[in-house]
Amino acid sequence: MPSAKDQLLFLSKLQRLFAEGDFTATYKYALLIAMADLAIEVSDDRLTHQALAAKFIELYWQQSAPYGTGRGEPAVLEQNPSGPTKVISDIVLFRNAQPSATVQSAPSLTGYRELITKVAETVRKQPVEFLQNLGRATDPFLYERERRAIVLKPGVAYCLRRFQPLVQQLARSHWVAHIKGNKRNVPILGNQDDLESFLFETPRQALTIIGNGLRGLTNNKCFYCAGTVREAEVDHFVPFSLYPRDLAHNFVLAHKTCNGSKSDALAARSHLERWVRFIDDHDADIKEIGQKAGRIADASTSLSVAHWGYKNAADVGARAWLKRGTYEAVDRGYLECLA
Ligand SMILES: [Zn+2]
Repeated sequence: MPSAKDQLLFLSKLQRLFAEGDFTATYKYALLIAMADLAIEVSDDRLTHQALAAKFIELYWQQSAPYGTGRGEPAVLEQNPSGPTKVISDIVLFRNAQPSATVQSAPSLTGYRELITKVAETVRKQPVEFLQNLGRATDPFLYERERRAIVLKPGVAYCLRRFQPLVQQLARSHWVAHIKGNKRNVPILGNQDDLESFLFETPRQALTIIGNGLRGLTNNKCFYCAGTVREAEVDHFVPFSLYPRDLAHNFVLAHKTCNGSKSDALAARSHLERWVRFIDDHDADIKEIGQKAGRIADASTSLSVAHWGYKNAADVGARAWLKRGTYEAVDRGYLECLA
């Protein structure tokens, strides 16, 4: 574990990177998000360009579709002030050849390997090369570069996991500001302000598909209180504020009131035990629901994310939500359910 002093140094360098780094395209934000996600999902300091490319495709997938809810003409948003964004045009080509592809089904389709290769090449030549440039100097505080991978410096994976929500929030808010600040997007955006949800969240329609699928699996029962649910309301089991990425296994059916009362908290141990059983018992069904909703569905990723979330919570002595107004302390014992 890096010392408290090293962790602070990491944060201040990260903050400098956002303040002074030269972000002419949005790739660097995507790279930071990809690194932070992979630090939780894989326990290896070596992150291949291919693994990063798969993350890029996931992140840019939604953004490669036209933004069409503004008053302006529907069009794909520009990510770069001066020209097209190669990752987006590569994804668009792939999607045109595979019109029914979703981000979930893409990896099994013809042409995906080629897409990964192209995106990996862009990732290598662009953000991996330039991310650590500050002003006129290079400060490789995050990783060293290899031919086919980056290798995180000692302590960096720890810091990325520890400060995951912060890294995500910084990268996302800068990404949104970058797109809003691009003059070429003015006619597309009109005066809408749902840009952040468009860029990063699951579309409402997909949430409804997930909600309806979960209703079928649970006989319309709220995951938390077991009462009957009438609407297809879903809750992020590991809160979205902690891990802002939609994975099919992380959704549970819940009353709006239960969801609202749980808010940004983790769920208490009894809920966690039930959730682990639930995704284990229904893995195949959840995958199918994810497929229909076009969301990533992978039980082991969701379990790693939960392990990370609860371990952090236990380390800082956070409290978990049991029911309205009732919380309990998270301790290391929680992790036994995830072992
Ligand atoms: Zn309920």
